[in-house]
Amino acid sequence: MPRVLVVEDERKVLRGLEQGLRSAGYEVSTAATGGDGARLGLAGGFDAVVLDWMLPELDGLQVLAALRAAGQPVPVLLLTARDTVDDRVAGLDAGADDYLCKPFAFTELLARLRALLRRGQTDREAVLRAAGVEIDLLRRRVSRDGSEVALTHREFELLEYLARHKGRPVSREMLGRDVWKDPNYALTNVVEVYVNLLRKKLDPPGGPSVIATVRGVGYRLEE
Ligand code: CA
Repeated sequence: MPRVLVVEDERKVLRGLEQGLRSAGYEVSTAATGGDGARLGLAGGFDAVVLDWMLPELDGLQVLAALRAAGQPVPVLLLTARDTVDDRVAGLDAGADDYLCKPFAFTELLARLRALLRRGQTDREAVLRAAGVEIDLLRRRVSRDGSEVALTHREFELLEYLARHKGRPVSREMLGRDVWKDPNYALTNVVEVYVNLLRKKLDPPGGPSVIATVRGVGYRLEE
């Protein structure tokens, strides 16, 4: 049974999520403050965390930062009443795997949670697959629909990063920080140049690009 930690300070919402997730077959632990959420999350053992952004003591982004700083890779679904591009980028940059804007339908939360749990399993595999592209992490080989594609070291790193976040938007800031190890790259067009190089090598002739542009945010490798 997958174990989920729910961190939410609105008692009614917390009870609703707890009951709904239990009926859907999850084992649920709850916390009503950011402090308790961080303590439980850091103790580990969860398959996913549903984390509200606005919380007392520590807010959701601070809880997330504490988890990631401790090397805790648990997938996190951020709940937020905020929905501007800046907020979304801030949430993704802080290490959230997905976000859901309040008010949301419980069925959508369940669907996103299932997707996060599936991705958690993929991350442990030595071969990543997305949009007809196969990335063999051990042999560092890439193929598209069965034919091998030669990539440079940097192209490979960029593709691996996009594949680990497949189906989710990745910001230029994340790519600068995690692929180039230099946040200043987000400000240059280097990221864009490399994305276009990858597109040239991977996109099917005449078909839509495997790497979509997410306006105002960055890029997304299709699933
Ligand atoms: Ca709240």
